[in-house]
Amino acid sequence: MTVNTWKSLDVAVLGGGLGGLSAALAMRRQGHNVTIYERYDYAGEVGASLSCASNGGRWLHDWGVDFSKAKPVILKKLIKRKWENGEIISEYPLGDYEQKYGFPYYNLHRIDIHQVLKDYATSEEGEGKPCELLLNHKATKVDYNTGFVEFENGTTITVDLVIAADGIRSLTKPQLGITPVFKSSDSGCIRVLFDTKKVKELGLTDYSNNEAIEYWGETKFKIVLSPCANNEVISCYCFFAAGEGDEKNDWNNDVSLEKLISSCEGLDPVLVELFTKCGYDIKQWRLYVHEPIPYFYKASETGTKGVALLGDAAHAMMPDQSQGAVAAFEDSGALGYIFSKKFNLSIAEGLKIYELERKERVTKIQAASLRARENLNERIGWSSDNIKHEQKLTIDEVCGYDMKAHIDELIAANI
Ligand SMILES: Cc1cc2nc3c(=O)[nH]c(=O)nc-3n(C[C@H](O)[C@H](O)[C@H](O)COP(=O)(O)OP(=O)(O)OC[C@H]3O[C@@H](n4cnc5c(N)ncnc54)[C@H](O)[C@@H]3O)c2cc1C
Repeated sequence: MTVNTWKSLDVAVLGGGLGGLSAALAMRRQGHNVTIYERYDYAGEVGASLSCASNGGRWLHDWGVDFSKAKPVILKKLIKRKWENGEIISEYPLGDYEQKYGFPYYNLHRIDIHQVLKDYATSEEGEGKPCELLLNHKATKVDYNTGFVEFENGTTITVDLVIAADGIRSLTKPQLGITPVFKSSDSGCIRVLFDTKKVKELGLTDYSNNEAIEYWGETKFKIVLSPCANNEVISCYCFFAAGEGDEKNDWNNDVSLEKLISSCEGLDPVLVELFTKCGYDIKQWRLYVHEPIPYFYKASETGTKGVALLGDAAHAMMPDQSQGAVAAFEDSGALGYIFSKKFNLSIAEGLKIYELERKERVTKIQAASLRARENLNERIGWSSDNIKHEQKLTIDEVCGYDMKAHIDELIAANI
């Protein structure tokens, strides 16, 4: 075991997305001094539903987050419907989910949970010193040997630990010697929202009270619909086979209703009517397949400085297991626990445990997310009864995971 005396670390979190904010919150609660540097000013934030399985929710509970502030809908089942007419094919019940895994299956609006995490990270209330959040700070240079970071606006800092939560196009990753390997997938996604009040007023089919994630289609063409924001918003992701002209890589790409409808040929007329009469905020996204990266951190030779990659920067994945943000919450939970007073690890030791804990698990989830892109039966829940091969990902291993126990074992075996 290390002989270092525990000290509170100066931590720079690069990126104020869901991953960065959760990492900041986890680290501040352990007594570290945390500053979050975000390249933008959050103006024009967009978003739709984000489901938060128990393996993510348990960490937010651990950090004292009151979920009611994020206006959750609690999911009770998955529903599979026929593409052409919405007829129910099968249901996967999640009624015993909380009892089995300890926490509910929350469905949230991305903007609500982002706001809540920002508030908890920066609030005077709660364990630890409030994090500082600096907007319009785009990190351009990161040196893991010295903890030095330079920003586009000319500011420089030197810290003990850098947590790079700078997203799928992370600028930090190449500076750690990692060349990202990714390719454009043949899938695109269009996001459309419905206001529940308007759906009711127009007398259209209302899916807001089904307490479910509902799927139309099972392959590349797939609709994923779910209510969020206290059932006030119904969110719909429409996956389709993308071609030339669908190269846009940003949610801020508005697309027309015509494009949405033509991407969903032969779809249930009930949904098409919803799109037509009350769909709003229609945005398109091209999906990319990212290969797993070789390592998740670099530490200085002295062991006293280091950079950890977190969230999409470390393990960008297809959205089809609904685990990207949840995996980022787990990453944050891991860092907070590893760098707690309980262990008194140096930065190099802690980051080694972080990688041992996170890499194998998220790589498996990443692979299963890609398989679920083309086969809904690979999705946790549905996979329980339908998938037989050995690499299958199960809802029990994802949602019932005891990460603290695993970290305890890893530290006992490796430090
Ligand atoms: C269609 C779709 C549906 C999804 N549904 C779910 C779901 O239901 N459940 C789930 O768990 N996940 C879901 N995900 C995945 C989830 O959205 C992501 O995994 C998650 O948002 C990643 O968070 P992050 O903080 O790592 O990255 P981001 O959200 O990309 O945040 C990165 C932040 O870093 C900032 N930044 C970038 N570069 C710099 C820099 N150089 N300096 C400073 N700041 C910088 C960015 O501006 C941004 O704020 C879905 C994804 C998609 C595409």
